[in-house]
Amino acid sequence: MNAGPRLTLLLLALGVIAPTGCVLWFMKAAVTAQSEATKESVAEAYRGQLRFLRDRVDSYWRDRAASLDRYADFARSVKSGMADSFVFPNYPASEPASIGDSSANRSDWRAAVAAEDSGNAQAAISAWAMVAKSAADPSIAARAAQARIRWLVRTDKEAAIRAIGEYFDHGAIAKAADPQGRLIGADEQLLALHLMQPGYARRGRVLRRLVGMLNDYSGARMPAAQRLFLMDEVRAIAPGAALPTYDAERLAAQFLEAGDSHTSAAGLQPTRVPELWELASKSRRVTALYRTSTVLAAISTVLDEGAKGVRFVATPPDTRTVGETMPAGPMLPGWQLSVSIVDPKFLEEVESGRMASYLWAGYLVIGMMLITGLFAGQSFRKQMRLARLRTDLVAAVSHELKTPLSSMLLLVDSLLADTDFDAKKTRDYLQLMSAENMRLTRLVENFLTFSRIERNRQRFEFQRVKPEDVVASAAGIMRERFQGTACDFDVNVETDLPAIHADPDALLTALVNLLDNAYKYTPAEKRIRLRAYGRNGLVVFAVEDNGIGIAAREQKRIFRRFYQVDARLARETGGCGLGLSIVESIVRAHGGSVRVASRPGSGSTFSVCLPRRTSPEKAAA
Ligand code: ADP
Repeated sequence: MNAGPRLTLLLLALGVIAPTGCVLWFMKAAVTAQSEATKESVAEAYRGQLRFLRDRVDSYWRDRAASLDRYADFARSVKSGMADSFVFPNYPASEPASIGDSSANRSDWRAAVAAEDSGNAQAAISAWAMVAKSAADPSIAARAAQARIRWLVRTDKEAAIRAIGEYFDHGAIAKAADPQGRLIGADEQLLALHLMQPGYARRGRVLRRLVGMLNDYSGARMPAAQRLFLMDEVRAIAPGAALPTYDAERLAAQFLEAGDSHTSAAGLQPTRVPELWELASKSRRVTALYRTSTVLAAISTVLDEGAKGVRFVATPPDTRTVGETMPAGPMLPGWQLSVSIVDPKFLEEVESGRMASYLWAGYLVIGMMLITGLFAGQSFRKQMRLARLRTDLVAAVSHELKTPLSSMLLLVDSLLADTDFDAKKTRDYLQLMSAENMRLTRLVENFLTFSRIERNRQRFEFQRVKPEDVVASAAGIMRERFQGTACDFDVNVETDLPAIHADPDALLTALVNLLDNAYKYTPAEKRIRLRAYGRNGLVVFAVEDNGIGIAAREQKRIFRRFYQVDARLARETGGCGLGLSIVESIVRAHGGSVRVASRPGSGSTFSVCLPRRTSPEKAAA
């Protein structure tokens, strides 16, 4: 291939490769842009959802603050689980007012104190027993009993335990408080527990009684400080004791100890205790206390309603956030709500759905371009082949026509130059001229046939033809040609051969071409046979010679256009390499085949095999 077509093919390839590259680049850019757009639209959707959830969280806390005013009782409020602890104006915030102490006015009280001062245990024990028995004021009686028990502990622990049971298990004394408001009975029950060794028979009962007092928030109210102290003691003695309000008590105590931070601001406010938040009721009467973890858990119940694949979280003030973030609303000052993608696959799913359409469109364009390029390439190759064919043909025609024309010119010139007009010489020359003429005619016919076949213009006119007629015509033409040459030409047609459907002129051309070759490629002592016979349902026309033969590897190639085994020999014999390709085209149009059997040096046999009953339609196709 020379430079021109190569350049054209290169341009064609570039014409496909460059747009394909552009499409690929465009696809990549589109996919990236799409991915960004998807992320942005998803983020926007989540921002909307975040705003919605923020409003819900805010109204959740607003409702809580509004509902706080309905609470009044510490224990019940704690049990409701609405907050980790509560502070009411009367509990555990303030201590009960101390009661007046009239004990010093009693003579028996003073006597008991004197007995105590004397250091006589027995005297003190009985003196205090007297007071406990006679005092009408349960507080005085309880304190006297307490003093008596104190002395009994020193002398007889068992008696002390018994005395505690007698004084403080039942009755008014059991509920009496000291001047500071502390429940004396509760302290005494703790004392009993301390006095009892583990495994002591009544220890369990005493423990239950004390736990019962600690869990009782009604009636005689125990001060919060005493309750918390006793709870700590009980937990030390019996870690499994059920004290459901213990945590709330401790939290409230921590809050109050840290200094009352009752704020006037609305919403969840930080307290002086780390990780503890207070929420004041609307009237500011009640304060609910929340640990950070409780706040987070409460918010997460609201946030859990968010979309799948993402996580909405709340973060306390001054905490780092991840993803889209916004303030959690006026009820949670300083708190943030944020959304982050936890399942990237979810985003990928959204993206891949949209991207698939881009990719398919891109693949389609590339596919179409490749197909177009392929077609263009093929058509270009076809055009190239035709162009080459045309140049080959022109070259062959001009070369092959030149030889007979110049030899005829030579013969005519020498005849004209001869003034004597020798009859024999003139006849010989005219015969030579006639032979050249025939050769020229055959050449031109072959060119025309070939050209028609190549342009698909060759029209075959099929008709019922007797094989012997075609053979006779071919033999007639060839005999004329062989006239005056040393050629043994033998014709043989099998009798009763069936008629065939064929174009007689075309078939004749094929046979004459084969016979012409047999003549051309047989150097001396030519023995040429033309036979027609039936074989396996076929009618076979065979041309046999004793010529130079054809090597096995050449036997397929000789049917190609312009192919010649030996170019020098072909020039001498005056061929242009079209004869056999014409034969093959004609035979194929008749629905038959042409074969060659040959050995170099021993001659060749070309057989044209045609079906016996070739229908005109089939043959024409
Ligand atoms: P050409 O015009 O050269 O004869 P053909 O197509 O008829 O072209 O034949 C192609 C080539 O096949 C010939 O050049 C020749 O080399 C070889 N060939 C054809 N017929 C014979 C034959 N009978 N004996 C030997 N060689 C042959």
